[in-house]
Amino acid sequence: MKVNVNFERLKKNFLFEKVSSKVSDFAKRNPSKKIYNMGIGDVTKPLAKTIIKGLNDAVLEMSEEETFKGYGPYRGYSFLINNIIKEFKEEGISLEESEIFISDGAKSDCANILNLFEKNQKVLIPNPVYPAYEDTNIIYGNQIVYANATHENNFLAMPDENQDVDLIYICSPNNPTGATYNKDQLKIWVDYAISKDAVIIFDSVYKNFIEDSTLPKSIYEIEDAKKCAIEIYSFSKSAGFTGTRCGYTIIPKELVRNGSCLKDLWFRRQTASFNGVAYIIQKGAEAIFTRQGQEQIKENLNYYKENAKIICNTLNEMNVFYTGGKNSPYIWFKCFNSLGSWELFDLMLEKLQIVGTPGEGFGENGKNFFRLTAFGKKEDTLKAMELIKNFF
Ligand code: PLP
Repeated sequence: MKVNVNFERLKKNFLFEKVSSKVSDFAKRNPSKKIYNMGIGDVTKPLAKTIIKGLNDAVLEMSEEETFKGYGPYRGYSFLINNIIKEFKEEGISLEESEIFISDGAKSDCANILNLFEKNQKVLIPNPVYPAYEDTNIIYGNQIVYANATHENNFLAMPDENQDVDLIYICSPNNPTGATYNKDQLKIWVDYAISKDAVIIFDSVYKNFIEDSTLPKSIYEIEDAKKCAIEIYSFSKSAGFTGTRCGYTIIPKELVRNGSCLKDLWFRRQTASFNGVAYIIQKGAEAIFTRQGQEQIKENLNYYKENAKIICNTLNEMNVFYTGGKNSPYIWFKCFNSLGSWELFDLMLEKLQIVGTPGEGFGENGKNFFRLTAFGKKEDTLKAMELIKNFF
């Protein structure tokens, strides 16, 4: 028996644990002070009424012998997959049922997808980025190289032709920077991946925040992307499913490596180690695609987008450099007074009771940047921005 030694290579403190232990320490010392939490990327609005009805109806079906469901199809139920196909068709992207796999969210599939590839792959990960890509690749024993996203390139890293890689993670709109690739930039990534025989893992969980209609919501809007990209999405941020858990992964039939169709390997992987997402949850997700469902989730999304605007307006007034906010729930700004990101975190917590996320937690390139999220209450966002404006 040998324990996976790669765990020793992980950073000891998971970012949000460190943030929450600092916040709870402050709260213990200052029990009467209100804290404005703009740190965590979790949604705060409850599930839409139509989704609740979908869930409720499915619960009742489970109570009758005629409608009870046991194990579901490995791929997910057709009623949900067909809605996804229809949505993509409206955007001019044709997909087949066998290319879509319903999942319990993006985080698990971002990690599990590594089952498709041999260990010791060379993996290109943007820096800064959502920490789960790095952690899971370390656990798998992969070799990580970074694509630098910096102030100079507006936090949109581009490939280096001289670098050979096997796997490439792209998150657009990005967490934490909110930066979003345009079609020309994504085409460069697609061409690069094809030239290196690499596979892109494209994380589109924030696509519903895109307002600019010229920006791509799916990598399959880019020519040839089906030959090199897997797309991972979840209903977490668009429909408030962070605690309900449902998403999907797309592996196009054109994605073939070493003579193997990756979607067939993934199907085999799912039959070996996944028994599907609960019927009840998939019925709740189906309700997202109804007319009322779409209207109701839009209402929540607009609420968050309004918060993002409030934050952007404040930073504009203060003349501070930032990315995101326009097509993303994240606003990524240069730390006030040239502070380091943990220094700014401590100062804002102690003096203003505002909790954000230090950029450093997402990678080396974030050490002078700070992330605020638009997922809070509007009145808190307004108050926090007033406090920031007055203090800095
Ligand atoms: N991908 C990115 C970029 C995220 O920011 C998150 C969550 O914050 C996830 C994936 C995980 O989402 P899920 O709730 O679907 O697991």
